[in-house]
Amino acid sequence: MNNDQQSGSPSRGGRGGSRTREAAKSAKGAKSAKGADREETGPAEPGRKKDPGKRGVKAAATGDASAVRVVFLGGLGEIGRNCACIEVDGRILVLDVGIMFPDPDMPGVDLVLPDFTYLRENSDRVDGVILTHGHEDHTGGLAYLLRDFPVSVYGSELTLALARNRVDEAGMVDRAKFIPVRDGERRRIGPCDVEFIPVTHSVPHAFATAFHTPQGVILHSGDFKLDLHPVDGRRTDLARMGALAADEGVRLLLADSTNAEEPGFTPSESTVGETLRKVFLARPDRRFIVTCFASHIHRVQQVADAAIAGGRSVATLGRSMQKNVALARRLGLLHIPDRSLVDIEGIDKLDPGQVCVISTGSQGEPMSALSRLAIGENRFFKLREDDVVVISAHPIPGNEWSVGRVIDSLHRRGVEVVHSGVESVHVSGHARQGELAILMSVTRPEFFIPVHGEYRHMANHVRLAESMSIPADHILLCEDGDAVRLDGSGLRRDGSVPGGYLFVDGSSVGDIGHGVLRDRMVLAEEGVVMAVATVDLKQGEVVGAPQIVTRGWAYDQDTEALIDEARVQVTKALEQALASGTHDHETLNRVARKALGRLVGDRTRQRPMIVPVIVTV
Ligand SMILES: [Zn+2]
Ligand SMILES: [Zn+2]
Repeated sequence: MNNDQQSGSPSRGGRGGSRTREAAKSAKGAKSAKGADREETGPAEPGRKKDPGKRGVKAAATGDASAVRVVFLGGLGEIGRNCACIEVDGRILVLDVGIMFPDPDMPGVDLVLPDFTYLRENSDRVDGVILTHGHEDHTGGLAYLLRDFPVSVYGSELTLALARNRVDEAGMVDRAKFIPVRDGERRRIGPCDVEFIPVTHSVPHAFATAFHTPQGVILHSGDFKLDLHPVDGRRTDLARMGALAADEGVRLLLADSTNAEEPGFTPSESTVGETLRKVFLARPDRRFIVTCFASHIHRVQQVADAAIAGGRSVATLGRSMQKNVALARRLGLLHIPDRSLVDIEGIDKLDPGQVCVISTGSQGEPMSALSRLAIGENRFFKLREDDVVVISAHPIPGNEWSVGRVIDSLHRRGVEVVHSGVESVHVSGHARQGELAILMSVTRPEFFIPVHGEYRHMANHVRLAESMSIPADHILLCEDGDAVRLDGSGLRRDGSVPGGYLFVDGSSVGDIGHGVLRDRMVLAEEGVVMAVATVDLKQGEVVGAPQIVTRGWAYDQDTEALIDEARVQVTKALEQALASGTHDHETLNRVARKALGRLVGDRTRQRPMIVPVIVTV
């Protein structure tokens, strides 16, 4: 099969595969049975630049039938929308389906998803989705993938419960079969055994995954850190990883690069508890509001413990916090005695020194509980001058500005704000260089690919691997859309698939492209100037004066005169065009746009969007 998938340009933000969908469909029809993709065309020469058009979306097409393929759909080049495919024997296991929050240059975009073209076109080969942990950048895209096809989903009980939230909201729950797995479990999923190895992270019950493939063990770290004193005592199972390395050998390691730029070790989560205790103790008579991620159950536990130790009761604020606290208590992952929990509406009856509110909004989200509190618009209670707000989180990239604004608003209310720049009330959930080096030294991988991170994080991770004596030609720096192939002769690149951004705006998925975003940016920054003109084609003249309409465009006294002149210039340009015999609509539009654009540009040095509306009679 020679489907021309690659030319469906995996460019960022494009609707990557739409052009090539038909080709893939016909290719699918020609496929006789599972594994038919493994056409015998002889092994590719290593290092030879392969014709990308001949491979990519369909499985590997070279000799070694036991070759394993890994395809990266997201998370390599950005923080978020993590998604990869592990392909054994022509079958696909999907590892994580995450979302990313939009950058400031994506106005109006609610979420960013991995490009699902490849999965959609190969849905008959997908045997399951494995979720490493419950964070939205690993699970939030599931609801959207389920629109394309139903699937079995594997993960820890908590991970599945967290992932279900969005799936439920989207009404897609019937299309997913949720299958919980336990720590250390090894189970057959589709073509290979998958082992779920406990790791510590900023959400409980996260897994690294080991895929036992015909090409040896592929170990994916997932998001992890090496916390030696985790709040629940469940440590990263380095012993098991070491045993895998000793017994079978780790053929390929894929590891979290988020903190690969940071030297040293990420402190233990339990250090936050000690800091919180001190912060509470130093302010015994004041009311506390602590904000953190609602999925960070261990953080919630430590806030609750510190509060209760100081004689306080705990109330939750924010829908996801209430939901997750209830869920985690039900699963036995969060221990807060009933007598220490109070309803948020009851806290005004208590002394300030008896209250600790645990709230959402650590990312400065405008509609979140903390943001509403900061502007005095929370309906449950109002902040008072002697309140203390603890921000027990770091802004994720892109949210710094919003968080800063919330902190400003809090200070305006006279509230004391304790954040990680003031006291160590937050630690990361990701491994720094020291921990990454330990992982490499324990697993002794033959090949290595850094995953999860911006390009600079992955580049640093490559340097670290080289410093750990992994030969440079055993390391690949991949990006979204890249595919690699592991076989008897080693690891090499194997074409690419559409790996661009898929934008969600309201209920529309993938309908916004780069053109729309560019228009929105221009509208946001410069506004719009429209010229509405009626043209009489028979008489060759403009009927009446064109109307000039502006929105969001800088306006001053001179603008009146400019608008008058615009009417004249647009009329002149159109009548000149008509006189030279131009009658087609598109050309008249272009003529009007040019005349108006030139005038506005020359006079104001601004570049608003210019929209001509020509009505012909
Ligand atoms: Zn995570
Ligand atoms: Zn992550």
